[in-house]
Amino acid sequence: MVEIHKTTCCYCGVGCGVLVKKNRDGRISVEGDPEHPSSKGMLCSKGMNLHYTVMDTSDRLLYPQMRWNRQAALQRVTWDTALERAAAVFKTFIDKYGPDSVGFYASGQCLTEEYYVVNKLIKGFIGSNNLDTNSRLCMSSAVVGYKMALGEDSVPCSYEDIELADCFLVAGANPAWNHPIVFRRMEAHKAANPRVKFIVVDPRRTDTARMADLHLQVKPGTDVVLLNAIAKGLISRGYIDEHFIKNHTEGFDSFRVKVAERDMREAAKICGISLHDIHQAVEYIGKSKGFISMWAMGFNQSVIGVNKNLALLNLHLITGHIGKPGSGPFSLTGQPNAMGGREVGGLSNLLPAHRNLADPQHRQEVADFWGVPSLNPKPGYTATEMFQALKDGRMKAIWIMCTNPLVSLPNVQLVEEALKAAKFVVVQDVSNRSDTLAFADLVLPAAAWGEKTGTMTNSERRVSYLNKFNEPVGEALPDSEIIVKFAHKMGFGHAFNYPHSAAIYDEHVYLTKGTNVDMSGLSHERLRTQGTLQWPVPAPQSEGTPRLFTDGQFFTTSRKAQIKTVPDDNQSEALSDDLPLVLTTGRIRDQWHTMTKTGRVNKLTQHLPKAFLEIHPADATERGIKESNIVVIQNGRGEVQVPAKITTDIRQGVVFLPMHWGKILQSNAARANNLTSDLIDPLSKEPDFKFAAVQVTKF
Ligand code: SF4
Repeated sequence: MVEIHKTTCCYCGVGCGVLVKKNRDGRISVEGDPEHPSSKGMLCSKGMNLHYTVMDTSDRLLYPQMRWNRQAALQRVTWDTALERAAAVFKTFIDKYGPDSVGFYASGQCLTEEYYVVNKLIKGFIGSNNLDTNSRLCMSSAVVGYKMALGEDSVPCSYEDIELADCFLVAGANPAWNHPIVFRRMEAHKAANPRVKFIVVDPRRTDTARMADLHLQVKPGTDVVLLNAIAKGLISRGYIDEHFIKNHTEGFDSFRVKVAERDMREAAKICGISLHDIHQAVEYIGKSKGFISMWAMGFNQSVIGVNKNLALLNLHLITGHIGKPGSGPFSLTGQPNAMGGREVGGLSNLLPAHRNLADPQHRQEVADFWGVPSLNPKPGYTATEMFQALKDGRMKAIWIMCTNPLVSLPNVQLVEEALKAAKFVVVQDVSNRSDTLAFADLVLPAAAWGEKTGTMTNSERRVSYLNKFNEPVGEALPDSEIIVKFAHKMGFGHAFNYPHSAAIYDEHVYLTKGTNVDMSGLSHERLRTQGTLQWPVPAPQSEGTPRLFTDGQFFTTSRKAQIKTVPDDNQSEALSDDLPLVLTTGRIRDQWHTMTKTGRVNKLTQHLPKAFLEIHPADATERGIKESNIVVIQNGRGEVQVPAKITTDIRQGVVFLPMHWGKILQSNAARANNLTSDLIDPLSKEPDFKFAAVQVTKF
């Protein structure tokens, strides 16, 4: 007898459907769910090996642990003792220093229900907005771009548009490795329709770029110059949709003047590519009937991330390629549920259902629903601000859920100093491999994928249900249950009486009623029995909404999309004679984030078992570096030592480090974020991971 459970992959934002098969003896295997519309039965290497992370529980945190000071060893305690201590410490700091002295740092891998309860607890009952997540490191520049241009944080299109498009612009993304099932759909579409064009913008010749009809191997930080030059070409050659611009947008006239200022030849020189290639991109986009742009961290993780997003959205708005089959801007979410987190308002400037903390009416609507007099209007600290606040004493306590900031945040030396300075650190995680545990005063074991129920929203606004097929190991509990128990210990139990996660979900969807993200027609029961749906789903009879803006009406006040004219200069740190190379960072194909899960699956570590530095042959020769030599990459913030991988796949003047390795799995010597900059985009507060000035020498 085999039990079959339908669920969703817990890695990236593609959100593939998974069938988990469980034998009578408890053995588990996984395969793609052919009925899931996003993935149609496919899984990538990470998804196909999910069962190894479930069956091997050797690294799992099994019970709560606590210590009274950092010199002492962690000791096993009961859940009651652990949460009573946490509540006592939080109450003491709140009474003495105010509610902003505490905060939660969560993750785009949390389920929607988990985000909802922690958001409600801190904003509604503790009285601070200090909840931010690692989604700040991922999609926040795209969120601000969408809001400024379209009036709402809303991905307009669906994966089904892939098969309807005839031109793709993939910028700052490597879906062949990082969103593999989306890429397989693109590949299959191009194989069946050779006239389909791929344009890839990336300083590296990735596997995605190898498939391209046109690879624009730009200098890092020049994307806005490139996009504005393409816009200028589209305008001058009459490839724009004047009817759409006139009836559905605002801001075109000043945009046209701005992009006309820059000579195309000069733009090509700034970007480090040929003028011919810019003209070619203009022709491909201009002649297309269906144009999709896709982007990820290469655009978002930038000090000018919002400007890059707006410049890209402008290409759609001037050509009218939005709200139509096979057309639209399509941000590729890094994490599986960054979208769900935003839907419940799980960032320090948001409230449920994409409401804005800055809007008094939005605050009152939520306060009334939660049964509290008012909400604190002061924005909370964002991800990097939170650790700065811990370091300088403005924050005293932090609760870290489902993320490993000592590897994943930029300039991790600062994070280490912050955690040392913190008076109280709670780490709620599934794995004992998280580097952050070294600084924990309290460790709370969380249930893993397959040990809890809940929902996630993928990159195409599709909400999927995650089934429970195993009991949690040891004394681990679902994250939402841990937060609810803590809320009771804090004295807020009257507002946190949830018999199961479905009740949390019902409360969340009720708050979306009548908003642009209305999903009040959804429930756990409906998702479990009828399958996935794309929001808005405003009624139980609604079948969801695959495509937004089909009527040319946007979510702005005027109902017109906004063509924003943005400056095209980069604001990253300057290169110098001492630090002449640009360091960019990213993922490799078979690893996920800080490798606490994928790093212990042999089949996955075989792909690229160790960290490395990609360097161009000319830069290597200049430094006397040969293949596999250990090199030192350094700047004023720190250093990394890894073997060199000499390749023409990377632009001269640029070097690349994978972002996965931290202390536990290799040593701090391979941790890319020893070097990354703590500059952030002024609007999105997303860090500038993709541009750090470094020098490289032979060890
Ligand atoms: Fe999982 Fe993403 Fe791979 Fe799909 S593409 S199986 S969601 S990691």
